[in-house]
Amino acid sequence: MIRGPSARAFLPNRAFCSQFYTSDNYNPKFKDDIRKKNQIRSDREYTFCIIGSGPAGFYTAKSLLKSENGSIKVDILDSSPHPYGLVRNGVAPDHQSMKKIQYDYDEVFKNKNCQFYGNVTVGEDIQILDLLRNYSGVILAYGAGAERDIGIEGEHHLTSATDIINWYNGKLDYFQEFQDSINFDMKDLRDISVIGNGNVATDLARIFLKTKEELKDSDMPSPVMDILKEPEINSVSLVARRGIYQSAFTTKEVRELSKLPQIKMYLFKEELEKSRNEASLLEATPGSSIYARAINRRTTFLEKTCIHLENNDHYEEVLNDSSHKKLFLRYFMSPSKVLDQNSIEFNITELEGEAEKQRCVVKSPEERVTLKSDLWLKSVGYKTIPMPGVPYDADTFTVPNEMGCVLSDNGEIIKGLYVCGWAKRGPVGIIDATLRDSFETYRVIKNHIDQDLLDSRIDSTKKTLYNLEKSFVTYRDWAKVMYYEDERGKKIGKPREKYLWTEDYENIIGKAL
Ligand code: NAP
Repeated sequence: MIRGPSARAFLPNRAFCSQFYTSDNYNPKFKDDIRKKNQIRSDREYTFCIIGSGPAGFYTAKSLLKSENGSIKVDILDSSPHPYGLVRNGVAPDHQSMKKIQYDYDEVFKNKNCQFYGNVTVGEDIQILDLLRNYSGVILAYGAGAERDIGIEGEHHLTSATDIINWYNGKLDYFQEFQDSINFDMKDLRDISVIGNGNVATDLARIFLKTKEELKDSDMPSPVMDILKEPEINSVSLVARRGIYQSAFTTKEVRELSKLPQIKMYLFKEELEKSRNEASLLEATPGSSIYARAINRRTTFLEKTCIHLENNDHYEEVLNDSSHKKLFLRYFMSPSKVLDQNSIEFNITELEGEAEKQRCVVKSPEERVTLKSDLWLKSVGYKTIPMPGVPYDADTFTVPNEMGCVLSDNGEIIKGLYVCGWAKRGPVGIIDATLRDSFETYRVIKNHIDQDLLDSRIDSTKKTLYNLEKSFVTYRDWAKVMYYEDERGKKIGKPREKYLWTEDYENIIGKAL
């Protein structure tokens, strides 16, 4: 690894990096003087390599490309032959307002100083050291591509949320792999349960509970839609290990679900009452923390909107009522063992600890319940996949860094290596949070250029990517694929009809991948 000066000498202060930050930086009407303070001004030429073309890579590229005299060039690499990362493969197919961000990304890719190189896997096709040697800086923006484990017996029986999401988002070459890997028949599904209650879990619930008609404006591939919407899903349960106040989903997402006309939402009265301990009530007291107002709003919304189930008999009665679809929100259950594909044993939990730090604990291990479902999904968050040659913190599943400067195993800053997005701070937060932390990483890079700490480079691409033995996909290539996807979509009234196979891409762009 190339080592730089000691960490302290290489880091600007934190206030410096967040000052002038505002999402208005991206607003054309934003005051020119502040915008100028954020611009890189240098007579030297720099070329950066960004690994990952999702939101984190895109926002960092966007900031770099605003340099005053166009002295910065950016190559964006992605292992997929298409850009956009999670915006294409993670954001739910019915959230088209969010997916529209890709048009903003396209503007960056059209900048003459920015090149996209898809179908290039760093660590396989090219090594990080080669990039570090040849570029002024390398920015790791490859997100968190693996699902976390729960660590219980029989976990392999669970279906991963990521697998379902990749499938319904039409991840390239995944359609058949998914069909072959699942050990259930989609058409037999009636009641589905999810372990975890984050926004990914609410995405899954919404996609399963919406009718085909309600999904018609989505970009879910037609072959997937035909299979997914064959069964008439009766209910989805989200099972959480803590209480209502600690729900991981946001009000916006659960409100969206509640507005679907055929859905009623349910809480267990007993679980609601158990949630109201002193620390939780404090968590929801406006003014007690920056999160309190949001927790209060979400809890009040749930209390008012959900029907409160009296007991298990009441639950059975509702479950068997076929007049409407149901979303059950369950709390205080931590999975202890997967008995088989349809049954999970849960420990009943209690909350312990002070407000905002409440953990769930199992005080009576003998107190267990077994819940049954036609399908169990695991949605307990993500982790960054280690990249060969790049330091990795196995406790936090992130790339160790200080304000986006990557740290070596002995805590030194690695010159020219930066990280942003989920690989930097872990898989939390919506796209706006990624925008903010990418901006922090950008400000550090700007500071390093201002201080003349980075090497000027002009022929980086030639020295690295042009030597590759495999074909890469340029933005021009991708634009052709996108054009045909949009055209296919228009014919059937959808935003796009995605191609599912690499072979389709190859036919369109005329090269083997
Ligand atoms: P998340 O918000 O971190 O939720 C993970 C859930 O899994 C929590 O309920 C967590 O419970 C639970 N969990 C974790 N470990 C567990 C275990 N061992 N046993 C049982 N339960 C466990 O993760 P996510 O839903 O994957 O979302 C990731 C990020 O993407 C979030 O910031 C989310 O807001 C964002 N996102 C946003 C949208 C949107 O804006 N529409 C859509 C999707 C995702 P505890 O809280 O008790 O740990």
